[in-house]
Amino acid sequence: MADDPLTPASALRPSTIAVTAGRPAHVPDAPLNVPITMASTYVAGGELEYGRYANPTWTALEDALGALEGGRCLSFASGMAAVTTVLDLVGTGAKVVAPRHSYSGTIMALADLESRGRVKAELVDITDTEAVVKACDDAALVWLESPTNPALEVADIETITAAAHEAGAYVAVDNTFATPLLQTPLGQGVDLVVHSATKYLAGHSDVLLGAICTRDDGLFGVLKNRRDLMGAIPGAFEAWLVLRGMRTLHVRVERAQANAQELVRRLPDHPAIAEVRYPGFGGIVSIVLAQGAIAADLLTHKTKLWVHATSLGGVESTLERRRRWKAEAPTIPEGLVRLSVGIEDVEDLWEDLRAALDGCVG
Ligand code: PLP
Repeated sequence: MADDPLTPASALRPSTIAVTAGRPAHVPDAPLNVPITMASTYVAGGELEYGRYANPTWTALEDALGALEGGRCLSFASGMAAVTTVLDLVGTGAKVVAPRHSYSGTIMALADLESRGRVKAELVDITDTEAVVKACDDAALVWLESPTNPALEVADIETITAAAHEAGAYVAVDNTFATPLLQTPLGQGVDLVVHSATKYLAGHSDVLLGAICTRDDGLFGVLKNRRDLMGAIPGAFEAWLVLRGMRTLHVRVERAQANAQELVRRLPDHPAIAEVRYPGFGGIVSIVLAQGAIAADLLTHKTKLWVHATSLGGVESTLERRRRWKAEAPTIPEGLVRLSVGIEDVEDLWEDLRAALDGCVG
């Protein structure tokens, strides 16, 4: 919060920021955690005025996430509220470059804008840096998602950002999969970072919330104004839940990543699996079943510990065949199952997954 007694957050390491940022001042009788402020309006004459413009619980969360990303933060009602607010920055008819394997909701939002003549979308293979750089030429916004969901492709953020800026385009990175602990795009020159805080930041599969971070005060002002006007604000309780989840972000991400890396070592030897995709960091692994969609669907119904569910980034391990969604890109294999590796004991996770995979061979 504004009167946070700590040394500047940037002087602290990420784990310490996750635990300490956005707390009330250390004064006698102050609560250690920011209270949930349930208010639609405030006594006039101050800075808050109305519940669509400001809420002290949002501010605490925004201070903490902003400190982790190295910029200023605005929270939104959901990840998609944040995504669409950024896409709406683009002028009518202007070009947006985006990965063809972005989160399907983002692709659908772009298609919706394009169908109404709002933007021109150019979908690219984000691993083909040369082609992406070329596409930046006449773009107004270059949208990156790295790693992509669920293909787990990684973009060369710095090279693409330099090319986009050369062309006068803004760059936004959806940092949902990496979290600010594994990747801080603002430090790589990116203009905007977007989060579905629903995932790792909250971490417990019990809340939806989104966020945008930036170092550009002009952009921050425009985005704040849009949020005030469009009203895609989070609830105070939701903001509080996300902040509570973020206190353990580093511990959860470290454990999920360690579990994922152990599974990635073991999975390729299983005969049911044709391909294992892993970007080298984080807790998401995609596997492609040798026997395609039927085997993949079977797998999602055979596990006992792993829960068949969409979404990701919670403490519990979940899995999903992504092509069960009609909106998923047709270039994603029918037999691809996305694993969101949780923080359970890895031996239990492996035994459950291996037993289910045994039933999906041939
Ligand atoms: N970005 C990514 C990478 C996602 O995976 C998701 C949701 O799955 C979103 C954005 C949208 O977030 P939300 O569901 O919180 O609206």
